Amino acid sequence: MSDNQTVQQVSGTCRRRVGEFIVTAVNDGLIPLPPEVLDGLTPDEVATALTARFRPPEPHVTVGGYLIEHRGSLTLVDTGCGDQMGPTMGRMIANLMTVGVDPGRIDRILLTHLHADHAGGMFDADMAAVFPRAEVFLSVDEERHWYGDTPPTDAVGVSEHVNGYARGLRKAYAGRWHPVGEEEVAPGIRRVALPGHTPGHSGWHISSGDEELLIWGDITHVPVIQIARPEVGMVFDVDVEQGRNTRRQILDRVASDGIAIGGMHLEFPGFGHVVRTGQGYEYVPALWRPEV
Ligand SMILES: [Zn+2]
Repeated sequence: MSDNQTVQQVSGTCRRRVGEFIVTAVNDGLIPLPPEVLDGLTPDEVATALTARFRPPEPHVTVGGYLIEHRGSLTLVDTGCGDQMGPTMGRMIANLMTVGVDPGRIDRILLTHLHADHAGGMFDADMAAVFPRAEVFLSVDEERHWYGDTPPTDAVGVSEHVNGYARGLRKAYAGRWHPVGEEEVAPGIRRVALPGHTPGHSGWHISSGDEELLIWGDITHVPVIQIARPEVGMVFDVDVEQGRNTRRQILDRVASDGIAIGGMHLEFPGFGHVVRTGQGYEYVPALWRPEV
C-alpha cells in the first residue's frame, strides 16, 4: 500500500440489535456539497462551524440506508442512489453483499421519500427493478407529491427529468408499490410522518420488547451543524419552515424519551442518541460492539 495514494475504505456496514431485530447500517457513499445548501447560514458561517468540528470546510453528506432482519425476513430502508450521483456514491449493493445479502433476497423496501439519493438505487440504467421480489412502501403524501396534479421540479426546474425518474421508478415496481398511512407495515415496524423535507417524508420506527429505534430519514443532512442548531434548514427541503418545525419536534422527542436513532445522512455508521445541551442538542454515537 503506497503512502499517499487514495485507498478504499474497508467496510460500509455496522450492526446493532433492537430487541428481536438485527439492524445493519449500510453505507452508500459520501458526497461533498456547496455551503449554500444550508439555509440560514452564510458560506463563511458554514465553514467556521464545520472546521470547529474538525470537518472539511464544505459540507460532506453521508448517504446510507438500513437493513432490518427479523424472523427470516429482510427489509431495506432506502436504497442509496445507484449510479445516479457519481463515483463517491452508489456503494449500497456492494456493501449489502459483504453481509451476504443480494438484492434478490430483499422482501420489502421502506422509503423515507423519493429523492434520488434514497430511491435511485431501486432501478438500473435500463430502468429495470434492482430488487426483483421486494414490496415497496412509501407514504400516501409522498405518492401524491410526486404523482399528483403538480409534480415537483428539481432545483433548476428540469421537471422533465424529475418526472421521468419518478414515473420510471413506480413502473419498475408496478403491482408491488404500496402507499401507506402510519400503520404497521410488518410486525414491529411502522411509518412516522415527518413532513417538511418532502410532504410525505417519513421516519420508520422499529420496536421490539422495550427497545426501539427511529430511522428518521432526512431530519438532518449535515448533523454536526443541524443537531446543535435545528433552525438551520436545507435548500432541498420542499417546505423549509415545516422541516425546521419537524426537526425541532423530533429532536425534542428523541432527547426526552432517550430513543435510539438512525438517519440516512447521519455520519456513518449512523446509530446513536440525541441529548439536550443548553439551546440545542448533541449527537452521541452508539458504542460499536463486536457481537450484537
Ligand atoms: Zn437525502
